[in-house]
Amino acid sequence: MGLFQIPPPTRYDLRFSVAGISVRVHPLFWLISFLFGFSANNILYTFLWVIAVFVSILIHELGHAFAFRRYGLRSSIVLHFAGGLTIPESVSWGSGWANVALRPKEEIFISLAGPFSGFIFAALLIGGVIAAGGSIAVNWFLGFIPLPTVGSIPFGGAFLTVLVILLLSVNIFWGLVNLVPVYPLDGGNVARYALMQYDPYGGVRKSLWVSVISGVIVALIGLVFLRSIYMALLFGFLAYQSYQSLQNRF
Ligand SMILES: [Zn+2]
Repeated sequence: MGLFQIPPPTRYDLRFSVAGISVRVHPLFWLISFLFGFSANNILYTFLWVIAVFVSILIHELGHAFAFRRYGLRSSIVLHFAGGLTIPESVSWGSGWANVALRPKEEIFISLAGPFSGFIFAALLIGGVIAAGGSIAVNWFLGFIPLPTVGSIPFGGAFLTVLVILLLSVNIFWGLVNLVPVYPLDGGNVARYALMQYDPYGGVRKSLWVSVISGVIVALIGLVFLRSIYMALLFGFLAYQSYQSLQNRF
């Protein structure tokens, strides 16, 4: 998913590739992650947080990238100040170049592949902790969503335990947030293509209304139950954006 335009390359970008998928990390990605996890009296915690965010968002975007590859599309990943983005490339089509139009079911698969690669990674971590003789505990988020966390790990000390706890919570939370049917999150794309399958002409409009309503609901949950001004502002802004699209396009 991507909230904003892709930032242009800088000389400070970190570049590498994973299984043939090129990854570019904009310097602001590190700064924003650092500020979000900043803890003045525990700088080691901040450091572990940045690692957890980096690994989790990379796994999420790799999920999208491998799903694109499944449908014959190459893609590249950019991690920037507002998360990550997987950009499919145009593919060569006979003599010319064309964008391959994906079918709604394929678009839905690609959108779900991001959050679910994070959930699978979290499940593997839980399996690893249990196999190593450690224990898993469950936190109840909002009273009804089970969020697994680490009870104990028999080795690696506090360092490893904190890192695994952060990896679990970021992977699961990031996946759940992305499944909310709000544009331009993955859930917003899923809602669009799911509704378009049943209503090719009105599906996009309906998905924008779903986006407005669920954006407002999540903003209120963030404000009232989580006391998170950030979540309220973010989802309020996304709901407003969808509302504007409705005004402009329909
Ligand atoms: Zn995504």
